[in-house]
Order: sequence, then C-alpha cells, then structure tokens
Amino acid sequence: NYMDEFEWSGPLKVTMKSVFGIDNFRLCQEGVCNASMDGRDVVCVMPTGGGKSLTYQLPAIMSRGCTVVISPLLSLITDQILHLRQAGVEAVMLTGATPKEESKAIFSRLFASTRAIGSADGRGDKEIKLCYVTPEKIAKSKTFTSMLEKLATVGKLARIVIDEAHCVSQLGHDFRPDYKKLSILRQLFPHVPILALSATCPPKVLQDLLLTLRLKAVVDGNTADKTGTVYFTAPLYRKNLHYIQAMTDYILEHHAYDSGIIYCLSKKDTEAVAQGIMDASGNKVKAGVYHSDVTDAQKERLHVKWRSGEVQVVCATIAFGLGIDKSNVRFVLHHSMSKSLDGFYQESGRAGRDGNDADCVLYYRGQDASRLSALICGEIEGQDKLHQMLQFAQNLIDCRKIQFANYFSSSSSLALSSWSDTTAAGTLSRCGHCDNCTRSPDSITTRDVTLESWQILRVIERVSRHGGRVTVGMLADLVRGAGGGAFAGGTGGKRKGKAKATASSKEKVDLDLNDIAGGKIIMNKADVEVLIIQLLLSHHLKEEFHSTAYSINVYVTSGPQALR
Ligand code: ADP
Ligand code: ZN
Repeated sequence: NYMDEFEWSGPLKVTMKSVFGIDNFRLCQEGVCNASMDGRDVVCVMPTGGGKSLTYQLPAIMSRGCTVVISPLLSLITDQILHLRQAGVEAVMLTGATPKEESKAIFSRLFASTRAIGSADGRGDKEIKLCYVTPEKIAKSKTFTSMLEKLATVGKLARIVIDEAHCVSQLGHDFRPDYKKLSILRQLFPHVPILALSATCPPKVLQDLLLTLRLKAVVDGNTADKTGTVYFTAPLYRKNLHYIQAMTDYILEHHAYDSGIIYCLSKKDTEAVAQGIMDASGNKVKAGVYHSDVTDAQKERLHVKWRSGEVQVVCATIAFGLGIDKSNVRFVLHHSMSKSLDGFYQESGRAGRDGNDADCVLYYRGQDASRLSALICGEIEGQDKLHQMLQFAQNLIDCRKIQFANYFSSSSSLALSSWSDTTAAGTLSRCGHCDNCTRSPDSITTRDVTLESWQILRVIERVSRHGGRVTVGMLADLVRGAGGGAFAGGTGGKRKGKAKATASSKEKVDLDLNDIAGGKIIMNKADVEVLIIQLLLSHHLKEEFHSTAYSINVYVTSGPQALR
C-alpha cells in the first residue's frame, strides 16, 4: 500500500527532512511519492496549499536523471526554482523565451550528468534534477521534444509532471489549447511515468484527462496490476484548510503521541475538524467527536478510547468538560474563540492537570467574532464579554497571564492575589513563556487602516441614509470596487462598485467574505472593526492566516454617530 510504509517511505522521509526540513507527510503526499518512485502513472488531486510540489520534487531529487515539470505560469516556476535552489537542489526552466544558446547549454548538462543526488560534477555544475517548461514548449517546439526523446533513450528522463493538469480538459473551467497537445507525451515517451497534479478535478474532467493524456484507467494502488494509473485525492477543504493543516502540523510536531482536546464552535465544526485532521495527517492523528447530539453510549466509548490513547484528540463543543477525568491532557486547541475569557480560561484549564507542562493555543481569526456575535444576539452582557475575548485575542503585547489576571480581578470571579503567588501582591511579573512573552518585536506588523475604515464608514452612511441595509459581503464588494487602494487587485478587484454579493467569490479560498460574515448586518463600531480586520486578514494574510504574528490596529477616529 503506497499510503503506508512502502519500500521508499524511509528514504523519502530522510531526504524530505534533510533537503526541505520537513518531518511529516501531509494528506496523500506519501502515497504519491511512493507510487511515483515505483514507476507508476499517478493522478493527484489536492487542494491549493496542500503541498503538491513536494510530491514531485522529492521523487525528482531521489531519481536518476531529470524530472520535467510542465507548468503554465512563469511566476510560479520562478518561485519554485528559487525555493529549490535555496534548498540546494539544481532546477532550471525552459520557455519560449529562453535563448537557443541557453537551451543548448542546459541540454548538454542534462546529457553529461551521471552523478547521484545533488552532487557537483567535475566542472562544478550541479546535476539538474528538475527542468520546468511551459506547455507551449512541448506543444510547439519539435527541437525540444526530440531532445527530450534522446534524453529518455539514455534513461535520463525520470518522469514528466503536469501541473494544473485539469487544463487539458475542455470540460473544465480552465481549458488551455496548449495543454490539449500534451496528448503526444505518452506516444513520445511510452516508458516515462507521468504525474498529473490538480487542485480541481471533478469526475468528468478526470475521465477526460485520462483519455487526453492517454493514461490507463484508474486502478486501486494495492492491486497486482501495475500498469493502471494510481489516483490520489485529498478532501478539498476551502474554508478551514489553513487552520486544519496548521493544527495538524502543530500536533504532529509537538504532540505526536499526546492526548489533546480541540474546542470548536459548532457541532458541524467538530465533525469537519475531526475528519480534516485525520485526512491531513494521513490518519496518524486519530480524532473523535463530542457534542450534545452524540449518544451517551457513544460518549462512553469515546471516553474509553481517549483514556487508552486509541483516540488521540477529541474535537468537542463546550459540552465536553464535565467529567473529564484525564489528567495528562497535553494540549487544548481552540479552533474558534470562546464566547468569553471565562470560557476560554476554563476550557484551556483542562490541559495539564497532572502539573506537567501543557500547551493551550487559540486559533483566532476575525470571522469568529461575527459568528459568535450572531450567536449571542443582542445580549449586552454577552457582547461585552465577547469584546473582551476579542481584545485578548488581538492583544499581542501584554503577557497572557497578566491579561487573565486583570480580567478576572475586575470581574471579581477570581482574586488577583491568586495569580501572584510568586510575586508581591498587586504587581505581576510577565510569565516569560506565553506567546506574547516570547514573541520577537520584529514579528509584529502594524498598519494604519484609517483610510480603509473611512471608506467603509462612508459607504455605510450613504447606504443607510437611503434606508438601505448593507451586509458585510455587500460592503466588501463596494469597498473593493469603489476604493481601489488596499482592496483592489487580487481576486476581488474585477468587480466594480456594485452592491452585489456574487456567488463567484465563494469559489475563492481567500475572499470568502460573504461566508465569513454570514450576511450579517453591520450596526456598530465594533462590527466595523471586525469587518476591517476580516478584509485585511483575508486579503493580505492568506498563508499566514493561522499565525498570531500579525496585528492590526484599527483607528476609527470618529464616525460611529453616522451609524444607526
Ligand atoms: P500546492 O502546490 O498544493 O498549492 P505547495 O506545494 O506550494 O502547495 O505547498 C504549500 C506549502 O506547504 C509550502 O510552503 C510547502 O513548503 C508546505 N508543505 C508542503 N508539504 C508539507 C509538509 N508535509 N509539512 C509541512 N509543510 C509542507
Ligand atoms: Zn507571558
């Protein structure tokens, strides 16, 4: 089975660690690498950001000869080459714009090299392990393909990788004529394995892709039939991918064998997170689900399995708490913010009851606030508590212990003195080990968003003066269309000034604002703050979504009186 320990698993991991510094495979990476090393044709569908590059770069480094990667975007190619060279792997690119002389030089290097993994040859040139090309190079240049054929004849063409492989199909949304011509690959290179990668490949497109590329029908990777194409897919999470992947990476890196809890906002979230973590870890992290709809018998079974370690992580709503008699919970993660600091403190407190070190991590994003706010509705006291939770999450300066102490002493549910057992009462010293005590000051970026805030406020004012109602989704469109500046460009820049929450934005991982806000109507300054944070986060942070090393100061100098 390619997904489990296979003959290549060990060496792959050693190389992955030494070249890229990565300890664990994600999603179906291990399977793809093993099947590729086994000489199979492979189709791999994995979400953007899932780690497709590694699935061909690793086998490329470990194979004799060069791997040809067909990729449509020059900017992506340049990025990849930079990244590879930083890791000490020699990679080059050949496009329509590459001068003849340079192509010649590259091919002579490709033919000359006989050395093993990454070693320098006599002239000080490293062996080229990866050669990136654009599809038109294959489609239009006979010289190029015949050079590749020669390379294949002498056994130095390790495999051919087709990135964004769904572009071969006219049934998909991204058809490119040059990709269609990749059908000649199998004919020209009957014995060179093909790896097709995509982030989006519905069944129809998959069938079309197999047909166009002349790949054999998909077979189960476990069967004795070694001629069929092996197909790997990882669930295409949109909303939570970064989060779930970040949590999975965190658990594997810091608590691979420890028990933990992940608190989630809703029943649906617990299910999605549990499934997501098992998928993202290749089933290494076993997760169970606990919420009020789980039957007593199921709860009992979960407790038993959790205690024995058979289930490593319980994904739970706050219903999970009473009756936890496990003292060696080593980590509590919050997938969403709690409704209050009291709740957050209590839930986090379920870790480390045996007195040994434990970690509590809050995965925070602005959108939690509007989800929670909707749950709490108009309750003033609830809104206040939520606001305090929000401030805690956004405060990247003060020691967490001191923040807790101040909160609890003012709400008088816990005396300040109970926090100060090590120092004189009244003044607390920083704990020295929370995120804020250990954060390097350079990692905090502050951005003045006065202008954006004003744009948002102006739009709200104008719309409400005419008796209209405006949702966060509409506002996001308006601001992006009207304002230019910070929000223009990227995926949202195309639409111009229409108060329309289009469905197309739902397709984008990075600008799922309608979903984030859930169509909520903006009413007060706090909402505006949250909105600005959401816009900025979703637009600028993409990759760093889960990171706390970013802070946004919102200065709304005046204006709320213009709101209803
Ligand atoms: P894709 O091509 O699928 O969109 P990438 O190959 O660009 O995604 O990978 C996204 C990011 O994830 C990269 O920064 C990469 O270094 C990182 N990454 C890939 N595999 C792993 C892994 N197994 N563990 C940790 N990080 C990984
Ligand atoms: Zn601290």
